[in-house]
Amino acid sequence: VIKMMDNSLIINDTTLRDGEQAAGVAFTPREKLEIAVMLDEIGVPQIEAGIPAIGPDERATVQAIVKLKLKSQIIAWSRATVGDVEDSLACGVDAISISIPVSDLLLKHKLGWDRVMALQQLQKIVRYAQQRQFGYIYVGAEDSSRADIDFLIQVARLVRDEGARRLRFADTLGLLDPFRTYKLIKKLVDSVAGLDIEIHAHNDFGMATANTLAALKAGARSASTTVCGLGERAGNASMEEVVMALKYQEAVVLPLATRQFKCLAEKVNRAAGRTLPVSQPIVGEAVFRHQSGIHVAGLLKCQDSYEALRPEEVGQSRQYSIGKLSGSAGLIHQLGSLGIDLSPPQARLLLAFVRQKSMDLKRALNDQEVLEIYYRHSPPAVNPTPF
Ligand SMILES: [Zn+2]
Repeated sequence: VIKMMDNSLIINDTTLRDGEQAAGVAFTPREKLEIAVMLDEIGVPQIEAGIPAIGPDERATVQAIVKLKLKSQIIAWSRATVGDVEDSLACGVDAISISIPVSDLLLKHKLGWDRVMALQQLQKIVRYAQQRQFGYIYVGAEDSSRADIDFLIQVARLVRDEGARRLRFADTLGLLDPFRTYKLIKKLVDSVAGLDIEIHAHNDFGMATANTLAALKAGARSASTTVCGLGERAGNASMEEVVMALKYQEAVVLPLATRQFKCLAEKVNRAAGRTLPVSQPIVGEAVFRHQSGIHVAGLLKCQDSYEALRPEEVGQSRQYSIGKLSGSAGLIHQLGSLGIDLSPPQARLLLAFVRQKSMDLKRALNDQEVLEIYYRHSPPAVNPTPF
């Protein structure tokens, strides 16, 4: 069994930077401020707030977030250039993330550089950021998953020796699986003492959350996440998934107000112009809704029977719905909540009508429809009500 180190793991939320990089998403300055406030209220320790180099509007927004004086540390994202570092400094942030590609492919095709040039530029810029007195410098190694691991180790040692506190391992294209993630992060952690490693996972094969957990198990100290996994292409690791999986699978309870997750998810999706999928893990509308007869009967006896986590903990509530696969226990419960006492034989009789109606409509029935079936098909003689 691989044990997670402890509960001092850091969530570094990048909804406002990588989340906004999702195609078609454009937050207003006001929305960015509101989301930052919500993340802070929830207790997220670090917020990557934006890219100052984009222009004066983005700089003004990042600066406004800094001026809120939140408890969360505000980080500006920059490329490894003097200009970007200056733009970040102009926003008043204390923390800077300096990003540089580390795979030969991106170095060559994006920048026309080789490894030596990358190391030289990185050294120069980290030193420059030190001179400019940033309190917290960290380096984002873009495309780490396609980099030569020995070169990545070289990069990590260099930035550590220059005073950077953390290296972000970015699986920029979401190419890893949890097994490879674990191996690579373990090697990096074991090879470079005195430098925190962060995992930044993408979800192109649906493994962002799994890869994030694998990296944390391998010794990474922080996770870069976004609300609902909002991000480029298939998105990033979802903050809610990572936090709740840490709690339920690893017994690592981070000090976050998880009850606000649903509310935050709705806020971010509204601002992103996206619809929250009903089956979105943790925060989707349907993930605590139960209908099948077997599951409902079990849940009514014990809530652990068919729920992996408690809905209240993430701002959700348990719902039962009545439809094609409902059983009599569910129907008795549902009508009971409407003040009608149903006997098991009555329930079995009514179920046939419920199922037929649900198939006709191809959906669950609402309370009104269930009541109509009850009044039409339940003979009062066999239904002695208590009042
Ligand atoms: Zn990314």
